Amino acid sequence: ESLFRPVRASRLRSRSRHFSCDTLRLCSGVLSAQLGQKVAVLDYVEPSAKGTKWGLGGTCVNVGCIPKKLMHQAALLGTAVKDAKKYGWQMPETATMAEAVQNHVRSLNWGHRVQLQDKDRSVLFDVSSPFLNTNKSYCLTFPCPFLQTVLTAKNIVIATGGRPKYPTEIPGAVEHGITSDDIFWLEKSPGKTLVVGASYVALECAGFLTGIGLDATLMVRSVALRGFDRQMAGLVTDYMEAYGTRFVWRSVPKRVDRLPSGTLQVTWSDTETGREHRDTYDSVLWAVGRAPETKTLGLDKLAVQLNQETGKIVVGPDESTSVPNVYAFGDIGEGRPELTPTAIKAGKLLAHRLAGQSTVLMNYDNVATTVFTPLEYGCVGLSEEEAERRCGKDGIEVFHAFYKPLEFTVAERDASQCYVKVICERGGDQKILGLHLTGPNAGEVIQGFSLSLQCGATYPHLLQTVGIHPTCAEEVVKIHITKRSGLDPTVTGC
Ligand code: NDP
Repeated sequence: ESLFRPVRASRLRSRSRHFSCDTLRLCSGVLSAQLGQKVAVLDYVEPSAKGTKWGLGGTCVNVGCIPKKLMHQAALLGTAVKDAKKYGWQMPETATMAEAVQNHVRSLNWGHRVQLQDKDRSVLFDVSSPFLNTNKSYCLTFPCPFLQTVLTAKNIVIATGGRPKYPTEIPGAVEHGITSDDIFWLEKSPGKTLVVGASYVALECAGFLTGIGLDATLMVRSVALRGFDRQMAGLVTDYMEAYGTRFVWRSVPKRVDRLPSGTLQVTWSDTETGREHRDTYDSVLWAVGRAPETKTLGLDKLAVQLNQETGKIVVGPDESTSVPNVYAFGDIGEGRPELTPTAIKAGKLLAHRLAGQSTVLMNYDNVATTVFTPLEYGCVGLSEEEAERRCGKDGIEVFHAFYKPLEFTVAERDASQCYVKVICERGGDQKILGLHLTGPNAGEVIQGFSLSLQCGATYPHLLQTVGIHPTCAEEVVKIHITKRSGLDPTVTGC
């Protein structure tokens, strides 16, 4: 029987099998196989509370970055259609977005499967609840009563990621709410939607729902985009409010009830006044954080150390856990950024190390990221608050500028929140500590500049760089007004 074909639990029924491999990966193993390792990959998706399930590729491909960015693009195109009219275009109306997004995701699932089966040293298991054994060879058995399959491996790599949390203490939250696991796979429009939470997932979902023409409300219990630069977070939410997303600030939901009409009644209280409010919605989307998928793996039996508060696995700089030959990377690693590209890079480097081909460790500093809100926000390095905390207010120089993207002009779009900020050390070489930009294609702009931060770029380097005209990115290299000077940072002219 070929090792290359995926093995379903049903096909393993009543058999006693034993596989031995170099590396056993709980998710993602293509690279290890390419590096000549014999790899077993265990991938299984527990359906969401609403029953949504999906194929290979994890959160990013199925219920995260990919469908999110495509929905964001759909929303941006909606804005572009409005702009196009100003440029003289007459546009027909169309709406086949969800199906097109789902088809693309399915093609990616297929691509992952083919890639994995292509490698003649890998085997993929599609089984629920694998269970790590305590014995010395790090066996892994499947706890189904009819299965006798045992996998032994030199190394076990855990990359099971996380799943959205439900606020189970709120009556009606689980019965009537959905999460980001469901939103991209709904069979009909979510309609008027309340999004609870105020970080990446919440803002991005509320943003694209507004962009595709739905009535979307965001309920924020404290601040938006905690951990990000405060000024930039303010620009993102100001733009969203102007764009049509409703905000309910400093409020927490108390209960969700389904009314006889079928709509959902949400009761919430204002955290400042304590006053209760109610409104009705077609959907309630919980975006209140993600929980690591570590509970069902039997890690306690192996004595893999977890952070008791977060449930994440305590990892070293080489992604090792407290148990030799057991590694963990990605969202389940304590203190690691919950970002797909970081996990991919860490996983690749680990695969090379386990194959004995490299000793290079993952560098978690200066990881660039972008929040795909209606006005994108990209950043790399420190926020102004963090730079101040580390260097003192007088130890940093903040250069900044408001600018108007050329494409906004003819379209008569408001550019009040298009802004760039470069935070540098004040003394010495004026090393750049952080770079922040809100505007069209912020992700594309920041990706390029993240290389300069990796290379230790300074403010004089920025001054020596010639811009590409007319672009939004050139505003970064043209920047010259300091906050300290108090001069007007509005860019005028071409
Ligand atoms: P986060 O853990 O980052 O944020 C959770 C949010 O929910 C916070 O705003 C928090 O508020 C709020 N919250 C928590 N509990 C409650 C509650 N009971 N009632 C009301 N509000 C509540 O979670 P996300 O799910 O947004 O993101 C998870 C991770 O996914 C992020 O760390 C990010 O790295 C990654 N991600 C990256 C993306 C990208 O790269 N573009 C896109 C999407 C996700 P408070 O601040 O008050 O605690």
